[in-house]
Amino acid sequence: MTKLSTRLSQFRSSSPLSFRLLAYILLFSSLFTLAASAIQIYSDFRRDVSLVDERMSVIETSYSSSLSRSLWALDQKLLQVQMEGILSLPDIVHLRLKIFPDSEVIMGNIPRQTSTKTRTFPLNYRGDEVYELGTLTITASLEDIFRDLRRKIIVILTVQFFKTFFISVLIILIFQHFVARHLSTMASYARRFSLQNLEEPLSLDRPDTPANRRDELSQVTEAFNQMRERLNDDVRQQKDDASEIQKLSMAIEQSPSSVLICDRHWHIEFANHKFFQLTGFNSEEIKGKHPGMLTSDSFSQRENQQLWQNIRLQVQRVGVWQGEINSARRSGERFWEQVIVTPIKDSKGSPTHFLILGEDISIRKRYEQQLLRQANYDVLTGLPNRMLALDRLKLALAQARREETLVGVMFLDLDNFKHINDTMGHEAGDNLLIEASRRISSCLRGTSTVARLGGDEFLVILPGLKDPLSTEQVAERILQTFTPPFQLGPQEVFVSTSIGIAIYPTDSDNSSSLLQNADAAMYQAKRQGKSAFVRYAPKMKDVSHERLQIESRLRRALELDEFELHFQPIVETDSGRLIGAEALIRWNNPSMGMVMPDKFIPLAEETGLIIPIGEWVIGEACAAAWEWKQATSLSLSIAVNVSPRQFRDPGFVDIVKQALDTHSLSPDCLELEITEHLILDNTIETADILQQLDAMGVRLSVDDFGTGYSALSYLKSYPFDTLKIDKSFIRDIMIEEGDAALVKAIINMAHSLSLEVIAEGVEESDQSLFLKEHHCDYSQGYFYNRPVSNADFLEWIRVNHLEQH
Ligand code: C2E
Ligand code: MG
Ligand code: MG
Repeated sequence: MTKLSTRLSQFRSSSPLSFRLLAYILLFSSLFTLAASAIQIYSDFRRDVSLVDERMSVIETSYSSSLSRSLWALDQKLLQVQMEGILSLPDIVHLRLKIFPDSEVIMGNIPRQTSTKTRTFPLNYRGDEVYELGTLTITASLEDIFRDLRRKIIVILTVQFFKTFFISVLIILIFQHFVARHLSTMASYARRFSLQNLEEPLSLDRPDTPANRRDELSQVTEAFNQMRERLNDDVRQQKDDASEIQKLSMAIEQSPSSVLICDRHWHIEFANHKFFQLTGFNSEEIKGKHPGMLTSDSFSQRENQQLWQNIRLQVQRVGVWQGEINSARRSGERFWEQVIVTPIKDSKGSPTHFLILGEDISIRKRYEQQLLRQANYDVLTGLPNRMLALDRLKLALAQARREETLVGVMFLDLDNFKHINDTMGHEAGDNLLIEASRRISSCLRGTSTVARLGGDEFLVILPGLKDPLSTEQVAERILQTFTPPFQLGPQEVFVSTSIGIAIYPTDSDNSSSLLQNADAAMYQAKRQGKSAFVRYAPKMKDVSHERLQIESRLRRALELDEFELHFQPIVETDSGRLIGAEALIRWNNPSMGMVMPDKFIPLAEETGLIIPIGEWVIGEACAAAWEWKQATSLSLSIAVNVSPRQFRDPGFVDIVKQALDTHSLSPDCLELEITEHLILDNTIETADILQQLDAMGVRLSVDDFGTGYSALSYLKSYPFDTLKIDKSFIRDIMIEEGDAALVKAIINMAHSLSLEVIAEGVEESDQSLFLKEHHCDYSQGYFYNRPVSNADFLEWIRVNHLEQH
């Protein structure tokens, strides 16, 4: 019994639906069975009872006349037999025969505790008349019927119970097999179901038949799997969306522009890393604040309020605001930002947030300002530059035209500036320019303009003059301010200026020719011996015109092959043996004749023409050296002068290399003469180029030694081989003791630095003897030979040197 109950409870917990189904089937089928059985039993019972009634009626009909007759006849025996016959009939248990008037015969017993049925019928004799003889009361017992009823109930109930039970169990098993176990599978699948195992479909353990495929379980399974697929798609979509969002958020976070996102009330919700980096704020300090109210500076807050009001209105109206904002960092430091403000709209198009993109443009701004300054002002002196000066001149002329006044224009050029710049270095040159501009400015009134046109050229504009002489007075004052020496580092230098003056409207009525005229007058001042001012006169135009003409001729000289090289021998002082020659350029112009280098080299330097000219010289000199070797089989070196500008040209080393290669000349046959000025320019490039040339094997010499301010330490640190004593020292060695002593000292010093010495400008034998005595290695000068053309030089070698070798 207990086993059954545990099984039942197991069944109940493992398949509650089946259990309930079983319970209900049992309950309802039992109820129906009971009701049906009850009806059946009742109807049987009714039928049995009516059978008893029927039987009694039969007795009445069949026995009433015979009994009446027996009673009429008073046949007691027959009556007895008849009554016994009736009593033997089924269910009849008692007979009571009342014989009128007062006797009675009773047969049988009425059983106790048993339902009975009685029926009384009259016994009448029908003769001519009807005689009431008595009545017979028959009692039938219903016991048999009830026993039958009980038995029937037991049998029917038992049979119905087992039938119902077994059918229910069968139904449950069928239900369990076809439905419940699949429901359990679905339940456990649903229980296990998660985003992690979306790939696993729901499948039921049953054959795949068409009937199965159509039923509800299949529909549920399919619905499940469709749901899983949809979920799978959704998850995939969500993943894609998430990675997209992640990407976008990383892009915003790592954006090189600062990004702020505000809510619709302009409260900051998000700021990216760049914003914090740019402004120095941290997240807590700005969250929820208005982007224009981040600093506590009340002035900027007021300013910002107006600005952000405008921004808000424009974003509302136009949809975007773009502009430059002078923002403040946390530290209070201001910086320029290029800002774009746009709304972020929802799907309905109404703004939910605002996006503020910012880019630090401080550098650009500074650069712009610088450019603006550079475009109008000279960087070194801070004075207006040529452009601004011309503008101001035009303004001054326009004003003078209206007011009928005069305008004085002064063109200033510092004397010897180039020399100081070359010898003392650019820094000293710069300082000199700054000081000069200060001195010029100090001589002027407020309305006047002083501008730097470039190099050492200045322009002074004196507007609104009544008298032309006042310009000259200013010029005089300027010349005077140049009288005291300029302090350049430890050194004092005297620098003067030459001034050319042109007056509007006397000398010209337009700005450009006024400037040209002032320039021409300035050249005239230079010619007059510098430190002077000269008022423009019409004939001066020709002079400046000439300079321009030379320049344009020089530009074409290379093309027209007007240059030639002359060669001056260099000999060993002791023996007079020829060791090489210096190449010296000449310009043979058809209209100007033979032009010496002093006349055009500075111009070539100024205009940059020295670069192609220098290249030509090196090539030509190497070609000559090669020719000498062929013609004389002497291995002669060739010295070539290199100007500073040429030396700093980036292609210079390659030019030298190429010239040597083209003419198969050994590098040690080439000596590059570099003026002392260059050495003073202590830049890394200078050192580097000298090292490169030295590494190639080319010899390097210091030209015009003694004329610059060269610090001797340079001789030690640069790879020079030779030192050329300037001819100005040699000229007077026999007359000036000082010069003689200096030359001796130079020779000793050079030797102590392992440098060889060449004396330039040796014109007399005494000088040669002096140099010999003091062990000067080599000599060069008219005493040996003047610079001559290549053909003459070869001839000279043949005559003077070939027989010696
Ligand atoms: P430098 O290199 O010092 O050349 C020597 C100058 O002294 C030459 O003048 C030469 O004719 C002159 N000279 C030679 N011996 C005597 C003498 O005994 N007495 C006198 N009084 N002078 C003598 P030149 O040819 O007029 O050259 C002048 C300067 O022009 C040269 O000075 C050199 O610095 C430059 N130069 C010449 N040719 C070139 C060239 O091809 N390239 C560059 N960059 N400069 C050159
Ligand atoms: Mg030279
Ligand atoms: Mg020289």
